[in-house]
Formats: sequence, structure tokens, C-alpha cells
Amino acid sequence: MQRSTVERVTATESVSTGVRLRPEIAALPPYRQGRPAPEDGFKLSSNENPFDPLPSVRDAVAATADSINRYPDATALAVREALGERFGVSADEVIIGAGSVALIAQFVLAAAGPGDEVVYSWRSFEAYPGLVTIAGATSVAVPNRADHGHDLDAIAAAITERTRVVIVCTPNNPTGVTVTRDEFDAFMARVPADRLVLLDEAYVEFVRDPDAVDGRELLGRYPNLVVLRTFSKAYGLAGLRVGYAIGPVEILDAARATAIPLGVTAAASAAALASLEPLAEAELRARVEIIAERRDRVRAALLAQGWAVPVSQSNFVWLPVGERTAEIAERLFDAGLVTRAFAPEGIRVSIGEEESVDTLLRILGELVEA
Ligand SMILES: *Cc1c(COP(=O)(O)O)cnc(C)c1O
Repeated sequence: MQRSTVERVTATESVSTGVRLRPEIAALPPYRQGRPAPEDGFKLSSNENPFDPLPSVRDAVAATADSINRYPDATALAVREALGERFGVSADEVIIGAGSVALIAQFVLAAAGPGDEVVYSWRSFEAYPGLVTIAGATSVAVPNRADHGHDLDAIAAAITERTRVVIVCTPNNPTGVTVTRDEFDAFMARVPADRLVLLDEAYVEFVRDPDAVDGRELLGRYPNLVVLRTFSKAYGLAGLRVGYAIGPVEILDAARATAIPLGVTAAASAAALASLEPLAEAELRARVEIIAERRDRVRAALLAQGWAVPVSQSNFVWLPVGERTAEIAERLFDAGLVTRAFAPEGIRVSIGEEESVDTLLRILGELVEA
């Protein structure tokens, strides 16, 4: 057999090594973070908590420095026990991950492989398509309703023999719209009980709508439901990577099996535990209240300016500005506000520092007139 001679690649932009990679992985866009905020600007692109870490949480993290030569208890038993107590479940019905996005990956890997389908609403969390592809499975993306919420009827109708996982994101990132309790119950009645449903509640602490679904009320009701939450947003621990899921032990055990070992660090566990202390949590909840109030104020001001902004129950607002997405995001950037643009659909703006609000409203006020 004749082998071709090695070709010298002279292009500087993209040098192909010829190494055999999984084609579907090579075709994935590499993860790139949003632009950093300019000096004196604000990063409103990652739904981060704008408040500084609590001193008690900082201290708890600092105390872990003495043992960084040791591996962590990566099952984070202490955190699982604290959460189990709070949610009225056993510690084995809780799993901790290096962010809830890591847990979503673990559940998808546990349930879906080549030939299987994972159904979710779209547009939704940017991480879903890649996680499904990495598992070797196929994404089935069901368009959002005109009001930017999940079309749960269409999602239920998209379930086939090949479906292994359905992801429901509420409030939905990036649109902010929630699924109601009644919608979710009707949906679960249509999902075969042998298909895994992931309820991604990354922003649940910001919800003020009494009709919104709340995973906490659903625990123990469905044998195929797992509820996912995170310390990254409301608890302000995005940089430490810690999230959790609650559900049936058998499903969680499968996700424990697909985890990359020892991903949850002692610092992350210590910070999570310190955040659950009553005094700390009360302070954190007060901050969430401030953000939720700020969100409602921003949305009301944008509506008054003439923008169409869906009701948001999260820590961001969605501007469905279509073809104007890039232009508007650029103007905001020039004014020092980094936002997340999903051209040609719209712009997600995180509710950040109070000092960012005036600029946001001023620039958007100028643009709506244009
Ligand atoms: C931020 C986010 C997560 C999880 O973030 P982690 O930092 O990995 O815990 C999960 N789902 C959605 C929709 C999110 O926006």
C-alpha cells in the first residue's frame, strides 16, 4: 500500500495536523468566553452575581488552603447532607458536580449515546448542544413559542423511540421565561416514565412568579425526574464551580459513574457549605432580592422605551432584537457594557451592578429612537 508523502502545510491560520479526531467533535466550536469588560465597564454577559463574596465564605475557602496537598472528598458528603436535610431527601439522593453544567454532561452521558436523541427547547442554554454531541447522541431542538417560553406540547411530541433525555430549562436561559407548574405537570404526564427528564433550575432563586414550576415540590413524585441547581448564580460562586442535582438514587448513581473523578474541590465544597449557613444565606437571599427588583425595574423601563422584553424571572433580560443584534451589542460595548449577543435572534443582558443600569437604559433609549 502506498502512503502519500507528508504535505507541508504553509497556511498560518489553521494548520491541520492530520490527527484523527472524532469528526463531530472537530466540528464543534471551541468554547470561548465572552470579551472581558473594558476598564470602568461592566460584564453583563455571563449572568454572574455582581456582589463581592461574603467574608465568611472567603474565610471558609481560605481555610482549605492548608490541605491542598490532599485530594478532596469529591462526593462532597457534607454538602450533600446539608442539601438533603433542606430538601427532605437522603444524602444519596443528592449529587454535587463541578458546576451544574458538569452534572448535565454526566446525566446525558449516562443516558444517551450514539443513535439516541436528546430533546430540548431552543434557543436555550448554549452548553446543551455541545454536551449532547460529546456524548455521541443527537440533539433535537424544538423552537420556543412566540412568547420565548418552552413549547412543551411540541417538546412532548418530539419524543420518539430514540429519545433518552429531555431537558427543560426554567427560567429559560437566555429568554428568562418560566414553565408554569401546570404546564410542567401536563408535560410529565405525556413523557414516558422510562425517559430521563432534567429540570435545569439554574436561576430558580430569582423566580417571583407563584405559578412557576418549583422542582422542590416535585421531588419524589416522578421516577424519571432530576432537578438541577447551582451555586454559581444566586450564591455568587461561579468561579469555584459547584452545582447539585436531586433525584432517584439509581439515576444519580449512573451520573456518578460518568463523572470525571474528583472534580469538586474542597474549596468549592467549603464555600457551598458556608453559603448555606443561616446568616450567610439570609444575606445572599437579600442580594437576590435586590437583583430581582433591579431586573423588574430594568424591564419596566425598557418596555416604557418601546422595546419588547419578555417577562424575566431570572437575573437577566432578553432583547429579541433580531437583525439589529450585532449593531446594538456593539453600541452597548462601546459604552462599556459587555452583553451576550446571539445573532440574529437577540441579546441577553445580565442584571449586574446598579451603576450599569443608567448606561444600559440611556444607550437603549437612544437606539430605540433610531
Ligand atoms: C449558568 C447555568 C448553569 C450552570 O452553571 P454552573 O456554573 O455550571 O453551575 C446551568 N444551566 C443554565 C441554564 C445556566 O445558565
